[in-house]
Amino acid sequence: MAPATPPGRSAIALVRVSGANARDLVSKRLQQPRKRKWPARQAFLARFLNREGQPLDRVLVTFFPGPASYTGEDLVEVSCHGSPVLVEEIVEVLLQAGGRLADPGEFTLRAFLNGKMDLAQAEAVKDLAESRTAFQAKVATQQLEGALSRSLQPVKAKVVSSLCHMETSLEFVEDEVSPKDRSRLGREIEEAQRQLGQLEASFQLGRLVQEGVRVLITGCPNAGKSSVFNGLLLSERAIVTEIPGTTRDALTETIDLEGVPVELADTAGIRKASDPVEQLGVEKSIEYLEGSDLVLFVIDQSTPFGQEGLYVWERIADRPCVLVLNKEDLPSRVEIPAEVMEGSLATVRVSALELTHFQELKSALLEAATGQQLEDAGVMVTNIRHKRCLEKARRHLGKGLQAYRDGLSEEFPLYNFRKALDALGEITGETTTEDILGQIFSTFCIGK
Ligand code: GDP
Repeated sequence: MAPATPPGRSAIALVRVSGANARDLVSKRLQQPRKRKWPARQAFLARFLNREGQPLDRVLVTFFPGPASYTGEDLVEVSCHGSPVLVEEIVEVLLQAGGRLADPGEFTLRAFLNGKMDLAQAEAVKDLAESRTAFQAKVATQQLEGALSRSLQPVKAKVVSSLCHMETSLEFVEDEVSPKDRSRLGREIEEAQRQLGQLEASFQLGRLVQEGVRVLITGCPNAGKSSVFNGLLLSERAIVTEIPGTTRDALTETIDLEGVPVELADTAGIRKASDPVEQLGVEKSIEYLEGSDLVLFVIDQSTPFGQEGLYVWERIADRPCVLVLNKEDLPSRVEIPAEVMEGSLATVRVSALELTHFQELKSALLEAATGQQLEDAGVMVTNIRHKRCLEKARRHLGKGLQAYRDGLSEEFPLYNFRKALDALGEITGETTTEDILGQIFSTFCIGK
């Protein structure tokens, strides 16, 4: 049993109870007509009683008989008025009546253990609940609907068919595998490897969608860095980050850029500092540079590029970089050195004062950071655990295929192909140890 809604005041709050005794437990604390039936999946009104047997709140109760419930067990939802005091009291009363507070993610763990969803889908529940952008939510929903698990099916099928083939030839020695069959088996495994490789590659984009992109705005002092930073913030919806106060010695804000969380950092300009305090600021900017995925090099195009510009460039040249030629409302006096033009991914002219060409800036930023259009992306791997399992599976397929082609005893490829299947099974949870399950579900919130 656990509250399913966050602590704090709200219109309605929800307490969920799951398990064989869920209905008895809740009904003990309800004032309702004696013989009242509990209709399946239909809310009914009742009085919830406090410890003294006095009415505490008028609640709506919905009963989901197992197995057609979220957890696969009998599940009762009690919707009460959204005061934290009421929720606390309801939980307390149910604890006294014999209930137990759920562990983090326990509802979803039970759903997984009862076969309501596979492990990748269970993980998507958490991603969905935590999604910060509409695109993250879309990717999580696809995974919740089994997109990743489905995309593994053809790979698994190929490995299983190869395994069967080899096992048969082991049992019936006279069934020698013909050269034609051998090469077909090789092709099947290669194709499986290719498909796994594709899924692995999607992780690069998946990680950006999930974790976001860190963008450092830098340049010479007065180039208009803060103005560009503010312009980007003004023109896009800011994401409220839940982790407050992480001091990074930079002004940071996260915006939602077509579904990708983009953390913008406005730092001190980079230049040869004359005093120690400024030097410290410059050092912090350079430190921040190391952790960023992309750099926006803001250049005041109304002044010559000069030594100052080169000084900045020398420090950022090894990072993926977009040139932002700011102050396009003023006459251009800048000449960008060829090495700077060639060393950067894109160039955009803007005016942070008049907010012109910010759409172009955002598109260039997104394309430079993600390397492709998001709409084109198919099934996307967003979870590092999944990526590791895919890598493991592909490695085993490679080893197995090598052993097979080298003509080693069938046992070697068989062993590796089975290991590959196990690794894929870890994604969906067919071959997952309790430790791994513990690790996964402990990161869920209580009530999920
Ligand atoms: P930072 O030191 O690089 O952060 O630069 P600021 O954003 O503080 O801008 C420096 C000066 O340039 C300020 O006076 C801004 O008003 C001005 N400025 C910034 N962007 C533009 C622009 O696009 N056009 C013009 N004309 N002035 C700008």
